[in-house]
Amino acid sequence: MKYKLLTPGPLTTTDTVKKEMMFDHCTWDDDYKKITLKIRNDLLQLAHADGEEYTVILMQGSGTFGVESVLTSSVGKKDKLLIVSNGAYGERMEDIAKHAGLSYAIYHQDYDKQPDVEKIAEILEGDDSITHVSMVHSETTSGILNNIEEVTRVVKNKNCTMIVDAMSSFGGMDIPVQQLEIDFLISSANKCIQGVPGFSFIFAKKEALMKTKEQARSLSLDLYDQWETMNKDGKWRFTSPTHTVLAFAQAIEELKKEGGILARANRYYENNREIRKRFQEMGLEPYIEEKYQGPIITTFIFPKDANFTFEEMYQYIKERGYAIYPGKVMEAETFRIGNIGEIYREDVEALCSIMKEFLEVKKHEN
Ligand SMILES: *Cc1c(COP(=O)(O)O)cnc(C)c1O
Repeated sequence: MKYKLLTPGPLTTTDTVKKEMMFDHCTWDDDYKKITLKIRNDLLQLAHADGEEYTVILMQGSGTFGVESVLTSSVGKKDKLLIVSNGAYGERMEDIAKHAGLSYAIYHQDYDKQPDVEKIAEILEGDDSITHVSMVHSETTSGILNNIEEVTRVVKNKNCTMIVDAMSSFGGMDIPVQQLEIDFLISSANKCIQGVPGFSFIFAKKEALMKTKEQARSLSLDLYDQWETMNKDGKWRFTSPTHTVLAFAQAIEELKKEGGILARANRYYENNREIRKRFQEMGLEPYIEEKYQGPIITTFIFPKDANFTFEEMYQYIKERGYAIYPGKVMEAETFRIGNIGEIYREDVEALCSIMKEFLEVKKHEN
């Protein structure tokens, strides 16, 4: 049985993206290396970054591999990282830091609130040993959109290195990486560019990247070495995820054809607005306040008096063509609806009708 994904990566891709994977490309020749170079150049343009100051590194593995690569390559033995966390992906950064034995501090914010910029400034003022700050842009845990612009300004004023996990936002929201002076920004193939899983990509300010030479704590995730090899002629350091790379190159072309990031962002914003509006009309309340809500995914509070489980709801919707997402926030019972990928107005309409029908059926069972 086929269904569309309303999960925020992997997400639903086009048939033309999937079709690119029907060919087994060799990896050593110029044809292939050119594809990698083109992807890197296209990504720089999408980030409004020029090749003088910035570069892009592609890294095998899922998005977490990219985050782990940046944290374990950039935070040196004498450095200290401040992790800003208001969700599971912020906490994952702490997990990475612990595993690698990085020196770190963590600032926890509630899952439904943006990090407090003044609080971060205070922490930086009070601890001169902090050299790096990391945070998530779109916290996929809840759907909240974090204030990276303000936080980055504070961090750069203190001359610290700024690291942003923009996994679920890059490509679906416009992020002027160079203008913001972000040092490292991470995203992955299977999110808003609408490719398939297999690698992450990292925007790096060259100045910050140069400092990571010979200090990575892992061989396969060594960001500098990966860049050095790839930067020569587009060759990947170890086996390249060829099928994913071919699909990704096609996905970038399709993003351009859609009208670029702004056009895609509009589609995502509209999907998101409509889902929230229609679900609220059915009595399903969002967990995040509207002013903090991002355009990628929405967390809804599971109805208190429900005579059904998430599993039942999930099965009902899946049998009718859509896979939704369980909740991930701790303090409330919730579920999530992602609205990125090949999802259009008609999908939103279909989802809302199915949901409405499900709630009606359940009401009559009462
Ligand atoms: C998807 C995602 C990741 C990476 O998760 P993987 O499962 O390793 O791909 C990291 N951060 C955020 C905010 C994400 O949405």
